[in-house]
Amino acid sequence: MSQTVSRADFDQVMVPNYAPADYIPVKGSGSRVWDQTGREYVDFAGGIAVNALGHAHPALVKALTEQAQKVWHVSNSLTNEPALRLARKLVDATFADRVFFCNSGAEANEAAFKLARKWAIDQHGSEKYEIISTTNSFHGRTFFTVTVGGQPKYSDGFGPRPTGVKHIAYNDLAALKAAISDKTAAVVIEPVQGEGGVLPASVEYLKGVRELCDQHKALLVFDEVQTGVGRSGSLYAYMEYGVTPDILTSAKSLGGGFPIGAMLTTEAIAKHFGVGTHGSTYGGNPLACAVAEAVLDVVNTPETLAGIKAKHARFADHLNRIANATGAFAEVRGMGLLLGAVLADAYKGRAKDFMTAAAKEGLMVLQAGPDVVRFAPSLVIPDADIDEGMARFERAVRAVVAG
Ligand code: PLP
Repeated sequence: MSQTVSRADFDQVMVPNYAPADYIPVKGSGSRVWDQTGREYVDFAGGIAVNALGHAHPALVKALTEQAQKVWHVSNSLTNEPALRLARKLVDATFADRVFFCNSGAEANEAAFKLARKWAIDQHGSEKYEIISTTNSFHGRTFFTVTVGGQPKYSDGFGPRPTGVKHIAYNDLAALKAAISDKTAAVVIEPVQGEGGVLPASVEYLKGVRELCDQHKALLVFDEVQTGVGRSGSLYAYMEYGVTPDILTSAKSLGGGFPIGAMLTTEAIAKHFGVGTHGSTYGGNPLACAVAEAVLDVVNTPETLAGIKAKHARFADHLNRIANATGAFAEVRGMGLLLGAVLADAYKGRAKDFMTAAAKEGLMVLQAGPDVVRFAPSLVIPDADIDEGMARFERAVRAVVAG
């Protein structure tokens, strides 16, 4: 028998590690969502850069329901057709020769960091295990990934952290030059820092990082959990930059809302994950892989990728206009359909107020830290929904500005 539930139940039965909004979405279609009361929202959040094709996209519903009639799960002592098809498509579309599947961004990064260390120690000895990451980066919530992530608020308070991890400033090549050595196993970079404020790396920086990694025989790991699968306007952001990593992690948009993560790498590196070195019960699950294959089929086409760039321009035009009209924002930045509106000094620390005001106007947006309002909509959001959502956003911004 179904039970009536409301937001109040959250505070009684859920572990209090989240503070969800006061409405509960119950239905979505494209870039529109409805809550329990029937109120409609334009979705510029996309489940934090996850719902790459919006809600209930027919191709994804078809892939999921067709696979659901076939086989849901097999253990890793067997392989399955959707996983093999998806891996083949990822390999064909990228620098990679090999793919490891898991269930989330954190797990993809956990696999990447373990593989990088295994490669380094196998190839160059037990002293080569250091990982260099950047301040303000985010790589997930497992203990290794919060440790590599550059935000102590996520890694403090849990006792001793894994050792051998250093942090340096982002977009600062001199800082990397000073920190990197022959003990470095890997340098880990988000091509655009997502959670850290939608801050893109410069091309010169990523080119320089690649060179320093090569000089010191260190692997370059790109965390493309947020930027991957079309979000940047290319299939992966490394293609926009023309800088190829040794290991790339992908999740979020890859499943379009169905949990999946993937680590992509080359043959020479992959071979260091021999049988039994790493694994996951659900990684490569047929349902997840069937949906992800359908996501890739839609996203990785010239039409969809060109559409993302055109929609970026539409978003940025609206945001710059609202910034000029209200004075609320100092800068609009980002790539493809990952954009950030950086709050002007007078509004610093108040990104959540803008999110709450937007929800009151029927619009879902995100924050990226306290100072940036973030937008990560469906990659195929109709222009009319962009315009309507921006009309709502402008009203929300004016409400905050008016106090
Ligand atoms: N890496 C990046 C760049 C992310 O943005 C995130 C999530 O926000 C993660 C890793 C962690 O992904 P997940 O929450 O799926 O574990």
